[in-house]
Amino acid sequence: MMETSLKWLWFTVTRVIGTRRICKWAGSMAAYGDTTFAHPHVKGYVALTIDDGLCRTGGCSLTTKVGQLLHEHDARATFFVCSDYLAGCEQEAAALLAAGNEFANHLTADRSGHYHKLAPDALRAELREATTAIQALGQSSVKWFRAPQGRLTRSMHAVITEEGMRHALGDAYCDDWCISDHAFVANTLLRQVCASHAAALTMYARPSVYARVCARAGAGRVDHHHAHA
Ligand SMILES: [Zn+2]
Repeated sequence: MMETSLKWLWFTVTRVIGTRRICKWAGSMAAYGDTTFAHPHVKGYVALTIDDGLCRTGGCSLTTKVGQLLHEHDARATFFVCSDYLAGCEQEAAALLAAGNEFANHLTADRSGHYHKLAPDALRAELREATTAIQALGQSSVKWFRAPQGRLTRSMHAVITEEGMRHALGDAYCDDWCISDHAFVANTLLRQVCASHAAALTMYARPSVYARVCARAGAGRVDHHHAHA
């Protein structure tokens, strides 16, 4: 039931409203004023971002397969990882970094209705815990932050700015964590992914979805494009 509703939602969003229009509207809200949704001046690339991973359940991570697909297509991605979900995946994580991928801060776990209620210092502690976990894997600095469920308040924005990070969302998305019809997910994403779009996926997507998105355009890290934007 939820899956059917989400498919209908994404069909409507991408065919009728347009994700770009929604991003423009969101960008007009104060907390999202400097959020990166896309790099409009960059053509012919997809800024591929992958959320949550690397594994919530232990022992069944797609990380190695996704890493292989990125490599096959000479693509790199920015993984917005929750630090709790890195446990047990340290080797795969280090391999992704060695291959030129980037990690970014998605807090400690993808809890809904939680982080926006935290006092600034409590949020800062969680942010630093996530950054420390990324640094322990060998990445020296963390530039990007993505709020769980994209929910960013002005107070959260102030803290991430003080911590030297910038908020990034994407302008191409489909609820691949719930929709099991991977052809639908791939087609919906590809409809949104034209030149200069940034695609966001979660680690639940089927490898075939990553393959199609990677193949459509050379995918790169967010900051690669940011440098030109
Ligand atoms: Zn998430």
